[in-house]
Amino acid sequence: MTSPRFPYAPAPESRAVVNLRASYGLFIDGEFVSPADGGHFKTENPSSQEVLAEVSSAGPADVDRAVRAARRAQEEVWGPMPGRERAKYLFRVARIIQERSRELAVLETLDNGKPIKESRDVDVPLAAAHFFYYAGWADKLAYAGFGPHPRPLGVAGQVIPWNFPLLMAAWKLAPALATGNTCVLKPAETTPLSALLLAEILQQADLPPGVVNIVPGAGDTGAALVAHPGLDKVAFTGSTEVGKQIQRDLAGTGRRLTLELGGKAANIVFEDAPLSQAVEGIVNGIFFNQGQVCCAGSRLLVQEPIVEGVVEALKRRLDTLRLGDPLDKNTDIGAINSSAQLDKIRRLAASGEDEGAQRWSPACTLPDRGYWFPPTLFTGVVPAQRIAREEIFGPVLSVLTFRTPEEAVEKANNTPYGLSAGVWTEKGSRILHMAARLRAGVVWANTFNRFDPASPFGGYGESGFGREGGRHGLEAYLEGSFDA
Ligand code: NAP
Ligand code: MG
Repeated sequence: MTSPRFPYAPAPESRAVVNLRASYGLFIDGEFVSPADGGHFKTENPSSQEVLAEVSSAGPADVDRAVRAARRAQEEVWGPMPGRERAKYLFRVARIIQERSRELAVLETLDNGKPIKESRDVDVPLAAAHFFYYAGWADKLAYAGFGPHPRPLGVAGQVIPWNFPLLMAAWKLAPALATGNTCVLKPAETTPLSALLLAEILQQADLPPGVVNIVPGAGDTGAALVAHPGLDKVAFTGSTEVGKQIQRDLAGTGRRLTLELGGKAANIVFEDAPLSQAVEGIVNGIFFNQGQVCCAGSRLLVQEPIVEGVVEALKRRLDTLRLGDPLDKNTDIGAINSSAQLDKIRRLAASGEDEGAQRWSPACTLPDRGYWFPPTLFTGVVPAQRIAREEIFGPVLSVLTFRTPEEAVEKANNTPYGLSAGVWTEKGSRILHMAARLRAGVVWANTFNRFDPASPFGGYGESGFGREGGRHGLEAYLEGSFDA
């Protein structure tokens, strides 16, 4: 039975709340400054290809200036400051993020292309929650299980991707600052604006100059940052390829490193799973943020007896997803972040057809301008195909089947990655059985893509190492090794 489809009237969120500047400087030592040896680049709205602003990019001399400012601030101000005082700043940042949440959400959607309902209900509230959570730790570090006098590492260089620009900045900055480190952060080239608005928020919170420095730019700015000898710690989120390069470059330098890289998560549905709930979870698992999520449930493993029913229900559900203007409050599927990412998705989807899988998308009209890809389902997928092995980072789901729990575990673990997994079943004992055998940093049971600042997140194998979030997230920014 198909349900009637009611048209929705347009419900666009107003852009008026965002005060876009024509150009943005680098944020170094508490001020917006012009680059010394960097340049400028434009950032665009991927849903319309409209240029939003011109942004300064940092060259090696600018990166050096930022690292020196961070060092001075760490040694003179932020490191010696009692944790309870640092906490006050972090609480203030969290509250200002909440106060300016609409502005942040609209800006994030403009620069990234994600639906406003996601930036408004997920990215921004979670970013505030991370600052609140780590503010709470700042005066309790001696009780966190890392010894009576845990010490900061010093200066952290942090490089983040474009899929959750503000949230990734919060994941990086909040634990580093709570533990007394100072930071130099490089946002992704296609999404620098929310990090620069966060810089304004840090000014508003009176954060001492140099504690956080933000150096936009492309990959070469990131490379200059992670290679800087003045750092004590590098934290990177992005592709496995760049992560491996950074690990090679840092080997033997004594600098600490955490890597959060790609994934190819299995979302496993047993025959006893509550079907309509599972379908919602599958949709959320792969179409949230257009599938541009490192922990996306991109490999659906369905127990054989129910595969037809699941695929049918999924198709009915995908038929109701609304693709279009990311600023419209009813939009489910927004734009792909860049033309480069769109090309990658198109190439991998084409390989799925070439290698014999069956492709299906609901009827939907793609806007003329901007970067768009329809929600896509592949059935008849076998583990050797590229769409079952490689991270697509787009709204593309590969459906595979299994017969027994052992086969599900074997197929799920048949990947060099290990970031996340999902299990859908009515049986609690089966959830525990599976969770103990799945090689993934996070295993969700009867849900997917749930994040909480109190819960650690990170990978195995080619998904990287180190944990962000929770008490574990403090460890990456404290002196010593704690194999507790
Ligand atoms: P990426 O190149 O790894 O970018 C991640 C960050 O690293 C960006 O800020 C990037 O700057 C910077 N960067 C690039 N080259 C660098 C280098 N040599 N040294 C230091 N920093 C460097 O990833 P991408 O090109 O945006 O995306 C490629 C693929 O990576 C995606 O298709 C997806 O599969 C995966 N990915 C994973 C995640 C995740 O959350 N785990 C996030 C994004 C992408 P620019 O933005 O200026 O290039
Ligand atoms: Mg952009």
